[in-house]
Amino acid sequence: MSEGAEEVPVVYLHEIKRQYMQGETPLTILNGAKLALWAGQSVALVAPSGTGKSTLLHIAGLLESPDEGEVYVGGTPTSGLSDVDRTQIRRTEIGFVYQSHRLLPEFSALENVMLPQMIRGLKRGETVKRATEILSYLGLSDRIKHRPAELSGGEQQRVALARAVANAPRALLADEPTGNLDPNTADHVFQALMQLVKATRVAMLIATHNMDLAGRMDRRVSLVNGEVVELD
Ligand code: ADP
Ligand code: MG
Repeated sequence: MSEGAEEVPVVYLHEIKRQYMQGETPLTILNGAKLALWAGQSVALVAPSGTGKSTLLHIAGLLESPDEGEVYVGGTPTSGLSDVDRTQIRRTEIGFVYQSHRLLPEFSALENVMLPQMIRGLKRGETVKRATEILSYLGLSDRIKHRPAELSGGEQQRVALARAVANAPRALLADEPTGNLDPNTADHVFQALMQLVKATRVAMLIATHNMDLAGRMDRRVSLVNGEVVELD
């Protein structure tokens, strides 16, 4: 990759403002938040509950629109895009992982990872090949036929990771992805995330309460009065 390509953040949040109405009262959650996510860099978002971590992730992932400010993906402003174009960017450029795996219970691990690729229009054979590769890479080659209920919590979450990177996104956003797991399992899933950053140079933002895991990431930020502040 040329140096020039590295100069544009994968995702850039510029002066993001987001309010929710609490009854009649507006509640300002994000107030001028700025954040650049870079290829190959893992960023921990560490802040108390209710400070706006999920809101920030949803806005960065184009799942929710800010009231003010702009979300740039690969240098392109997204606020003026049609819903179809936003959806397209979300499908191809951004992967999302939640605290609960949100896998489809009726489908196997393999099928869950194939689905985003099929929605994108890839041929079935190709999606089988790629899904198998990703699941093997994450140590799940002997679990591909299992349905979510037949997997452990850590395995379910690794399948969710595989699904999130199935379309080779440039950004991976994870909202407390190890929050439901015991410490050992959390460590496994965390290692899988770090392995993915190294292997794919994806830009990663992980909301977490786990200071130990945050300490092992490239960079740490928090939310204070609706703004992103760098820690350390
Ligand atoms: P965190 O992920 O850091 O716990 P959230 O981003 O989920 O914080 O929420 C921040 C604040 O915004 C919370 O007080 C929450 O109750 C409020 N909030 C979040 N989503 C909505 C919504 N859709 N409508 C109203 N209030 C919301
Ligand atoms: Mg949250």
